[in-house]
Parts: sequence; C-alpha cells; structure tokens
Amino acid sequence: MATTPSNKMRPTPHLPPNLPSLVATAFSRSVATKAVNFYPTSVTLLTINSIPFQLRYSPSLASKPKPPSVTTPKLFFNPFASPTQEMLITPFGTSPPSHNLVLNKFAVVPEHFILSTSAFKPQTHLLEADDLAAAYACIDAYARHNKELFVFFNSGDHSGASQPHRHLQLLPVENMKEGLEGEWDVLAKGLTDPNTRGKLPFEVFARNIEGLGGDGEELRRVYLELYNQACEAVLGVAEDIKHEGEAQISYNLAMTNNTMAVVPRLTEGGVVKDKDGQEVGNLALNGTVLAGTALVRSEMEWNALREDPDQVNQVLGRIGVPNRAKM
Ligand code: AMP
Repeated sequence: MATTPSNKMRPTPHLPPNLPSLVATAFSRSVATKAVNFYPTSVTLLTINSIPFQLRYSPSLASKPKPPSVTTPKLFFNPFASPTQEMLITPFGTSPPSHNLVLNKFAVVPEHFILSTSAFKPQTHLLEADDLAAAYACIDAYARHNKELFVFFNSGDHSGASQPHRHLQLLPVENMKEGLEGEWDVLAKGLTDPNTRGKLPFEVFARNIEGLGGDGEELRRVYLELYNQACEAVLGVAEDIKHEGEAQISYNLAMTNNTMAVVPRLTEGGVVKDKDGQEVGNLALNGTVLAGTALVRSEMEWNALREDPDQVNQVLGRIGVPNRAKM
C-alpha cells in the first residue's frame, strides 16, 4: 500500500540512472552540431599559499554573453526559459518537473551542464530546498557511477553571474583534471578543515553535508547557516538577515558530495598586467574559485598570469572579505 511521505521523507527528485552517459551523449551531439561551443582549454597548476590552484584558459568564454545590466535588457535572450531540444538533457523533479538539466553553451570543460528552474525564478533570490535537493540528486547520480560532480552557484553583482534565470552549474571532476600535470583536487572538498580555510586570502564558510542523505530541507538549513555567516562577515552582526526572497549580499555557493561552502563576494575580480605593467585584461572569478580554479578568457591574460602568478593571489585577496584567520 502506498504511504504518504512525511515532510522529512519527501521524495528525492527522480533522475535517470544513467545520468553521466546521458550528459556525455548530449554534449558530444551538440558539440558536433555546434550548438555547444567547446574548444579544448589550456591548463596550468599554480600554488597559492601551498594550495594547488589551476589556471584554465578557455577560449569559449570570450563569446559568452554579458549580463543584462551591460546589454539592453529588452534584447536579452533567456536560454533557460524554454531550452531547445539540442540543449536540453532532461527535465526532472517531482511532477510537473521543477527543473531542467541543460548543456552549457560555453562549456569550460567537457560535459559542463546546468540545472535551471523550469519556471523563471530570480538568480538573486535565496535558493529553495528543491533547488538544493535537485543539485544533490545529480551529485548522487554521478556517485553511483563512481564519478564526482562539482556544483556551483553565482548570485549577485560581484559573484561572476551573468544570467538572471535561476541556475546552478555542474562540472564532472574527472574532466576538470584533464590536461593537468601534478596533484590537484576540488578545493571545496577540503574546506571543512580550518587549516585549509586559513590558507585562503578570503573568508569562506563550509560544513560537512555527508549524512544528510540529500534531504532538501536539511541542505537548506546548512545553506542558511553558511549564508548567515557570510552576511555577518559583510554586513555585520547587527543586520536583520532574511531567509526568503532577494539575497542581501553577493556570494558563491559550492557543493560536493561531502561539503557545502559559501564565499561572500565584494568584487568580481581585478586587473591583470603584463611584465611591463600594461593592463591586458581583467581576471573575473565565479564559483569555480571554490574548486581551486581560475578561468581566463584571453591569451594575453593567460600569458601574463603564468609569468606572474602572484597576480592571481592578489585578485583572490580582493574578491571577498579578507581572511581574519590569515591576518
Ligand atoms: P552565470 O554566468 O553564472 O550566470 O552562468 C550562466 C551560464 O549560462 C554561463 O556559464 C554561460 O556559459 C551559460 N550560457 C549562456 N548562454 C547560454 C545558452 N544560450 N545556452 C546554454 N547556456 C548558456
């Protein structure tokens, strides 16, 4: 006999069991038809305060659309409102589907995909339990095939976000390791260790989420706890921190199978100079910073940062709240 699930026992979103191969097939098909722009990236390993950090040059990013604030809002195309068959991997969530999985048109690594809400919801509003449960269900679906996913979310003007329709991004970790010579792993996985957090130039808040079983309400409780800490770091403890609607700060969220992390953001990045002190670009960082990755969109920036990696460290020092543990 069917039983009615209690609030705590709400069903986890149903996902196809073969998610990794579904994503891989959709990605190969859409690269072949040029619906997805993917050019092989160049990657190098830097060491930032003894943390292995990858610098990835992704030519696809040069053609990525700018946020609506710097274009004409009326002309702004929302790719997540009604994804084309070429871009859609699968709708999912309890009926009617609450979310879509779609390919990222400007993939930074192969099989870079996106979890977007089916109906429009603002990117700047706080995430809901079903967004977090859906993201964790994807992590879990990969884990069943012994594969890891890194999930990130950019929210607010200083976070590196460009699309106003709510979406989280997902990167297969084995593809993030492609081309790397040397030891590197997703930074977020180690962020529950205060020693690792203490090495970063910016404040980050993290919790272990193993054992929550992907329960959306539990994940949201942890998310709000981390969000509160991030708000307090930016606004001070006296502020009235709201848990619904528009977020009060810019931030990035990261999620892996064991960790959730939130970094409050104050700037998107900083200028990059060549060895003669000439400005050659701007290093803009989004939630991939919590994987221990910086994405570069031009060859001049790529060359300048490899010649002088300390510039990456300096930009990291500017993107968030200076780390008190490090000072
Ligand atoms: P964000 O910049 O964090 O708001 O993330 C938006 C993501 O959407 C970026 O990673 C873009 O590469 C991706 N994107 C932009 N246009 C499209 C599109 N037409 N179809 C699919 N993904 C897109």
